[in-house]
Amino acid sequence: MSHFETDAIRIQQRSNQREHSSALYLSSSFVFESAEQARAMFAEEIQGNIYSRYSNPNSSDLIEKVCRAEGTADGIATSSGMAAMFGSIASLLQQGDHILASRSLFGSTHQLLTRVFPKWGITSTYGDISDYKNWEQLLQPNTKMLFLETPSNPGLEIIDLDWAGKFAGAHGLILVVDNCFATPYLQQPAKWGAHLVTHSATKYIDGQGRVLGGLILGKKELIEEVRFFTRHTGPSLSPFNAWILSKSMETLALRMDRHCENAEKVARYFEGCPHLDTVNYPFLPSHLQYDLAIKQMKAGGGIITLTLKGGLPRVQRFIDRLQMISNTTNLGDSRSIVTHPASTTHSKLSAEERQKVGITDGLIRLSVGLEHYEDILQDVEHALEQSK
Ligand SMILES: *Cc1c(COP(=O)(O)O)cnc(C)c1O
Repeated sequence: MSHFETDAIRIQQRSNQREHSSALYLSSSFVFESAEQARAMFAEEIQGNIYSRYSNPNSSDLIEKVCRAEGTADGIATSSGMAAMFGSIASLLQQGDHILASRSLFGSTHQLLTRVFPKWGITSTYGDISDYKNWEQLLQPNTKMLFLETPSNPGLEIIDLDWAGKFAGAHGLILVVDNCFATPYLQQPAKWGAHLVTHSATKYIDGQGRVLGGLILGKKELIEEVRFFTRHTGPSLSPFNAWILSKSMETLALRMDRHCENAEKVARYFEGCPHLDTVNYPFLPSHLQYDLAIKQMKAGGGIITLTLKGGLPRVQRFIDRLQMISNTTNLGDSRSIVTHPASTTHSKLSAEERQKVGITDGLIRLSVGLEHYEDILQDVEHALEQSK
C-alpha cells in the first residue's frame, strides 16, 4: 500500500486467528516447535519470537507501522520516550565520545546529556540554531553524534533538517532526530538524512494520554546495534502498550489534521490578543523560522507557546481560571492541556539554562486538543479576562 493513512490502518501482523482487530499477545515467551528450532532462533539463523524482552507480535506491529510512516528500515519499541533517547545514545557511543546537540531539548534529554552520560565519559556541547556557521567550530575530534529535536519542546525552535543531514554527512556524524512533536505525519527526518529517528510515543502516537512508550527507528545496521543493547538491558515496551499504540497509529493522520487545524485557529486568535506579550506557533508567519517550518513540515503541529503580560502571577491565575483545559504535563492528548514549563517539565534546569532556551517564568505551553476549537477559545478567553 502506498498512502500514509492506509498503511497505518492496514499493516498488522498476520496471525492464524480470525480476529479482524489485531490480537493482544500477553505472553512473556513463545514455544519452540523443536529443539532444533530453538537453537536456530537463538543462533539468529531464523527469525521468530523467543521472549518478549527481545520481540513480541504487538511491538512488531507497531514498529512496522511507524517504520512505514517514517520511511525507515527497522526499529525498536521501548517502554518510554526517555528509554528511546537513552538507548539511541548509549547503544552507539562509548567512553570518550562527544555529542553535538541543539540547545533547546526536552528537559530529561538535557539531564541525560549534562548529568547522566558525563558519568561514563560521554560529553556534549550545545549549538544555537541562530548561527549554523558556528557549528563547525563546536566539532571536536571525538564528536560522533548530532542530536536534534525539531520542533523543540517547549521552545518550538525549528532546525533545518536539510542542513542537518548535510552537516552530519560531511563530518561523519550519526544524526539522531527526536521527532516527537511533528510525528511522521508532519515530517520525516530520515528523508533529510537522519540515521535514527526517536519518539516519545506517549504523546501524539498514543494521542489519548493512556500509555507510555518510545521508538528508535532507522537504518538496519544501526538498529542492529540498538537491538543488541535493548535486548540485554531490557527497556522493552509492554505488549499491552504496544497494542494500544499500534491501534492509535490508525487514527494518527486524522488526529494530527485536527490538532493542527485547531492549533492554527487558536494561535491566530492569540496573535490579535491584547493580554499577550508573545505567541509562538511554527505556521504563523511571525515565527522566526516560518519559512523553514513550511518547507519541511506538512502543518504546524498541535503545540503553541505564549507569554502573558503580567509575568508569573498572571500565568498562575490564568492556569487556575481555566475551566476545561487540563493542567497537566502531558501533551498530544485529545484533551487540551496547559503546562507551565519553568516550574514543571523544565524546573530541573538552572535559571540560566532556562533563559538560554527561552523558557521564561511567563511562558505557557498549550497542547491544543481535539475538542471543538470554539470551546477551547472560549475557555482561554474567559481565563484571560478573569486573570487580569
Ligand atoms: C515527552 C518527551 C520525551 C520523553 O518521553 P516519555 O515518553 O515521557 O519518556 C522526549 N522528547 C520529547 C520531545 C518529549 O516531548
